[in-house]
Amino acid sequence: MLGGMQDWELRVNLLIDHAAREHGPREIVTRWVDGAETRTTWAGIRRDALKMKQSLERLGIGKGDAVATLALNHSRHLVCWYGAAGTGGVLHTINPRLFDDQLEYIVNHAEDRVLIYDAMFQPIIDRMRPKWPTIEHYICFDSGTHAPHFEDWIGTEDGNTEWEAGSERDPCMICYTSGTTGHPKGVIYSHRSTMLHAIASLQPSMFSMDTRTVMLPIVPMFHAASWGLPYAGAATGAKFVFVQGNDPQALCDIMQREKVTDSAGVPTVWLSMLQHLDATGTSLPDLRQVVVGGSAMPRAVIERFMRQGVRIAHAWGMTETSPIGTTGAETWDWGDKSFEAQVDYKAMQGRTPFGVEVRCVDLDDPAHVLPRDGKIAGALQVRGLWVIKRYLKAEADAVDADQWFDTGDVAVIHPDNTVQLTDRTKDVIKSGGEWISSVELENAAIAHPAVAEAAAIGVVHPKWDERPILVVVKKPGADCTADDIRMFLSDKVAKWWLPDAVEFVDAIPHTGTGKISKKDLREQYRDYRLKD
Ligand code: ADP
Repeated sequence: MLGGMQDWELRVNLLIDHAAREHGPREIVTRWVDGAETRTTWAGIRRDALKMKQSLERLGIGKGDAVATLALNHSRHLVCWYGAAGTGGVLHTINPRLFDDQLEYIVNHAEDRVLIYDAMFQPIIDRMRPKWPTIEHYICFDSGTHAPHFEDWIGTEDGNTEWEAGSERDPCMICYTSGTTGHPKGVIYSHRSTMLHAIASLQPSMFSMDTRTVMLPIVPMFHAASWGLPYAGAATGAKFVFVQGNDPQALCDIMQREKVTDSAGVPTVWLSMLQHLDATGTSLPDLRQVVVGGSAMPRAVIERFMRQGVRIAHAWGMTETSPIGTTGAETWDWGDKSFEAQVDYKAMQGRTPFGVEVRCVDLDDPAHVLPRDGKIAGALQVRGLWVIKRYLKAEADAVDADQWFDTGDVAVIHPDNTVQLTDRTKDVIKSGGEWISSVELENAAIAHPAVAEAAAIGVVHPKWDERPILVVVKKPGADCTADDIRMFLSDKVAKWWLPDAVEFVDAIPHTGTGKISKKDLREQYRDYRLKD
């Protein structure tokens, strides 16, 4: 016997159809880089996406073809999400901060045929064009360049067409990981995985969005599908406010004016936002939820927001998990926890929603699954409905026989199933056979008033194999010595974790996604010698 219910393919056009039909007039606001603002609606996004489909077809672009964007967050970019997928194509959102050799690699690897870009990235286009032979058509989201303007390009069409039909297992988006080792790798989201991720995101324990939500996603649309928010937002008819750039003043202005209730971004964005709020005395009375992830959110920042009644959704994930792996979902005994205990919990990475499973295995013996005892750190593995199976053009699966994907993160899982990240596998420091968490050292060091940025790495040691050293950038005008830092750390971490040396530098190297590049740092300190 077969199930007797309707068998719809889970394709992302269902999301935009729903948004346009049930929440048609709900606004999508964009503040452009020049300060100008435009407004459209979910109905307008759908109409333009259908026009884009006609325009793509006119260029001979169809099923399975890769359409790339090189753009910040705005309504026209959103049109492309639904327009490319609705044509049966695959949208490849390119991170403009990647280095040239990475840009060259990913466009050729994805075999992008069309590139739609923001005018501010014209220098990248001019530089890379000769190295991108697969791209046949360049379209610009803005006027004033040699490429056709997006609005003119779709403007000749009437939008009177249907979405391309197909399987829910077809690809709809490609995102490349920043590739801390080797070439970036392409993660191919399917219509189905994207839909399931979007539906799951609406749970109150996840991002709790509804039609009253006014969402300002600061996380870029080129980074892990802006955490899937523009898909989830269509399912619920949330209003969206897009801002180009991270300037706290511009963000605060529009958050106040548009009564933004929810926003999402990496911790550094929230740090600079809080500094701005403190310096100017501004408040954000409508803000009720901050979604944060990408790296660990400092406890002090979480506490500040929570004291103002803002819910923190501290999520962990990666491009390979669409990206939600865990969220800061409240525990069943939340009301019984003290405020301090609630903040402590939110400073960890939270628990898995339905649809994702995690486990930790022994760092030295991956066949041994660790107990959830809150004590032993292990290699974090993940599997689930929207987790990667195989990278684009890879010859083998990225998962084991039971579908477990090795995240490269090191974590402890607590008895209440809360995941706490302690490091990345490649970054843990092994001293005399024992593991030292570089992340915990950095978090402790960053609390020192003179420290702007800190990174801990292991260097070769004749007796202990490896010992930690701390590389520090001081705040402008601040002063401190290596002994000050070690003294400051002495009551915050185990004595044998204290760094053997503290090196002061002007800058710490970063990856294309803005994270500290431990790989480069280790390279810089390869020949560093410690005394025994
Ligand atoms: P990459 O930077 O490797 O290209 P992602 O942007 O997908 O890839 O980042 C994924 C990684 O970011 C995770 O494996 C983890 O190390 C880190 N990360 C993500 N969220 C958090 C968080 N809430 N706390 C700590 N680390 C996080």
